[in-house]
Formats: sequence, C-alpha cells, structure tokens
Amino acid sequence: MSFPVQRPRRLRSNENIRRLVRETSLSVDNLIYPVFVGHGSGLARPVEAMPGVYCFSIDKLLEHLEEAVKLNIPGILPFGVPAYKDETGSEAYDDKGIIQEAVRAVKRAYPELLVITDLCLCEYTSHGHCGVIEDGYVLNDPTLDLLARTAVSHASAGADIIAPSDMMDGRVGAIRGALDKNGFINVPIMSYSAKYASAYYGPFREAAGSAPQFGDRKSYQMDPANADEALREVWLDIDEGADIIMVKPALAYMDIIRRVKDEVNCPLAAYNVSGEYSMVKAAAQNGWVDEKRIVMESLTGIKRAGADIIITYHALDAARWLK
Ligand SMILES: [Zn+2]
Repeated sequence: MSFPVQRPRRLRSNENIRRLVRETSLSVDNLIYPVFVGHGSGLARPVEAMPGVYCFSIDKLLEHLEEAVKLNIPGILPFGVPAYKDETGSEAYDDKGIIQEAVRAVKRAYPELLVITDLCLCEYTSHGHCGVIEDGYVLNDPTLDLLARTAVSHASAGADIIAPSDMMDGRVGAIRGALDKNGFINVPIMSYSAKYASAYYGPFREAAGSAPQFGDRKSYQMDPANADEALREVWLDIDEGADIIMVKPALAYMDIIRRVKDEVNCPLAAYNVSGEYSMVKAAAQNGWVDEKRIVMESLTGIKRAGADIIITYHALDAARWLK
C-alpha cells in the first residue's frame, strides 16, 4: 500500500508525536570526555587547533572536572603531556608519570568518576611513534612489554579501565596477562580495535605534542580503505580479552561502526576525534553552521550507527544541552 493511504508525514506533525516514534536517543550515559593533562600547577594552556580545549595542570583539571561530575558524565579519558621524551617513552610507565599522578588526583577528588587511561607510547617517545623503533620500523613484540608495564602502572594508580590505542598485534592479550598477574583481574580493557591511520587526528597531535618525527603510522594503524580487516581486528581483540571495543575515528567510519555492531555482541565505543571536533568549531566560529544542532546531529548519528559509547570533546556541551 502506498500514497495516498500511506503518509509518513502524519508521524512528523508535531514534537510530541516525533518524540513517540523517535528511534535513537542520545543520553549523557553514552559520553566519555577526553582531556589533556600536563605537569606544573595553575596552568590551562589553550590548544590552538581545538577551540575550547585546554591542556590543564592537575589542579586546574580537577577544577575543570567539577562540571563534568555535576553533569553526571560517566567517565573521562585523560591524555598526558610528559615532562620528558626518550626513545622508549619511559614516562609512560613511570609511577610518577603525568597520567599516574593525574589518575590518583582525580580518583581522590571524584571517586565515582571513571578514569579510563589511554595506553600508548607516542606522547612519550622522542620519535613520536607508538612503540620501540629499529631501523625506522616500530617493533611489535618488544613494544608489548612496555605496554604491559604501562597498563600495570596505570591500574596501580587507580585507573578504572585501560584503553590501549597503539595497534600493536597481540597487545590486548599481553595487557590482560600482565593485569591479571598483578592482581587487577577486575580492571576492564577498552581496546582501540579498529583504529585507522587518519588525517582527522591532526589537531590532537598539537595538543599532545605527539606528531611522528619521521614517516607515518601506516605500518600499524589501519588503511582507511579497509572494512573486512576491522572485523578481524575486533575478533582478535575479543579473543585476547577486550571487554569494550572501539572504532576510531567516527564520522568517516559510520559503516564500520554499523558492521561491527551487527556482527559482534560486545559494547562498542566510537571516538569522535579532534579533527571532527575542530572542523565543527571552525565552521561555527565563522557563523557557517549551527554548532549545537551540528554536534547533536553528529552524536546522534554515531549512536544510530551502532555506538554504545561516544568519546567526544563536545561531551560537556552535549551534556549541558541534553539537560
Ligand atoms: Zn600512539
């Protein structure tokens, strides 16, 4: 049966009827707020390429998180800007490293707020790559030892969830093994399973000072042209013990989010990355788009595509607008 019997517009005629038939609802429950933290005190350094985003010292971060807690955002994802960088990224697994100190301080101030630690070496290595380098190549297996050590250090500091983002083969298994051996059997792993070698990470690299000093990350992050491979990565991570899986970035990879959701019954996160954020911010500052509507449409789209969890720099704004 079709027109004129069928008139889909009947169900769009006013807001209450639209509410009744709405298929996707975004909630503050879905949001994770990524933040940048560095050494020092009293510091809030604006990230130029990400308007509204700052790299905070720990004291300022605690002040900033007060609103996130009031808005009932479930968790944060802190990224550390270290005091020093070296060949093996040793501040990443230093118990006095910036992330370890930040985790302790945040958990002390806000025990209920989930602190999910991004686990990688690229912010901490002098060459800006995500692992140990030999002849210009990132070595897989020696990197696993450092990642496992970093994971244990994060968990010891009080991290609630460990989120490896390096894309080394076998890292979820190595991290799970190390956590279990050290008594952290109940600390979940949220794995960046399908992480693409994306130009959308550009603004983040300014924020974290983590741009590779030579070459690119294509020998470990995924080719944007691939979709079947994302499924293989996801299954490997689940087999190795991942509790939550992730697709990153989000907006150019909605098909991947949907395929993963259809094929895998595991909680799925999507990362609405820095470049996606900065493009909206820049256009909004020029008056070219309506920021609130664009942000809510994007986040709703990511959820409709299949994400249960959305990691987004818009989290504070979105949580305010959802209230
Ligand atoms: Zn990395």
